[in-house]
Amino acid sequence: METDFLSWTRNNETYNEQPFIWKEIHNGVLKVLGTGLIEFIPRTLTSTQVVYSCGIHGNETGPIEIINDIISDITSGDLNCIQHTLFIIGNPKAMNLEKRFCTENLNRLFARDLSVKDDNYDVLRAKEIIKVMDNFFKEDTTKIHYDLHTAIKPSELQKFAIYPFTPDRAIDREQLGFLEDSGIDAVVFSNSEATTFSYHSSIKYGASSFTLELGKVQKFGENDRASFKEIEGTLRGILEGTYKKNDSISKLMLFEINIEVIKHDDTFEFSFDNTLPNFSKFKDGQLISKDRTDEIYANGNEQRVIFPNPNVKVGERAALIIRPKRLPM
Ligand SMILES: [Zn+2]
Repeated sequence: METDFLSWTRNNETYNEQPFIWKEIHNGVLKVLGTGLIEFIPRTLTSTQVVYSCGIHGNETGPIEIINDIISDITSGDLNCIQHTLFIIGNPKAMNLEKRFCTENLNRLFARDLSVKDDNYDVLRAKEIIKVMDNFFKEDTTKIHYDLHTAIKPSELQKFAIYPFTPDRAIDREQLGFLEDSGIDAVVFSNSEATTFSYHSSIKYGASSFTLELGKVQKFGENDRASFKEIEGTLRGILEGTYKKNDSISKLMLFEINIEVIKHDDTFEFSFDNTLPNFSKFKDGQLISKDRTDEIYANGNEQRVIFPNPNVKVGERAALIIRPKRLPM
């Protein structure tokens, strides 16, 4: 096979043929399970299973380049992968269209009933990814899943992670250490169930899963790869077994959800305009939003906003207000 895996994937937006061996190397085999889906099976299995996903939103190319380079380096023998690993390039068709998705947001198609939905490309993709992950994960392994994204909206804190809602599990401090070592600035602890890919792997398999937002969306070839250096290093280190776990954090900022801002009616408006970056702070007493039902004012000087969108439907969530979270001792 002369081409690289990303090129093969872009040339095969759908692939319904049998799995095939991509490359046999000294310590294992790379096996193509479908378009954008390739598994590395080491000859000697460790107790860890790793999933790296990217391109769940097709136009978020930086992480796709990182993952494709890792696959290429395993293929060439430059990266000595020891972990049983599944690599996922989520949405090849949207990628070719340079769009976030084709018909609907793929990262809202997990951990829910898909049988009620029409089989558009994104839904079929979700079904295929769910099935491949289900075959991949074995019982009694330590499971890791990092779902890599970049964002359209500017952000005061460039790189951040969403920690899925897992009320029954203790906070995983080694994973927080990993996030800090990966150059992540902040973690937002989710407070509810979700239909994201990282929530799916977390709730269904007990995986240590995160949605990682790694900076700004760019086109292929235009990404500033230096800005991904730290995470690229830790992702490779995990595969090679050289990453040293660390359960202490010093710089990583932790946030919890404080208020879900709901749009109650058509008069809903924010006190700020759409260009306000994610993680912008409010001043004590500042008006955040208003409609006929509610006026929300900042309480203290530590609240910040993420994902503001005044154009959601009435009754839906228009923004999250977050505040610093303290870890239990
Ligand atoms: Zn994304």
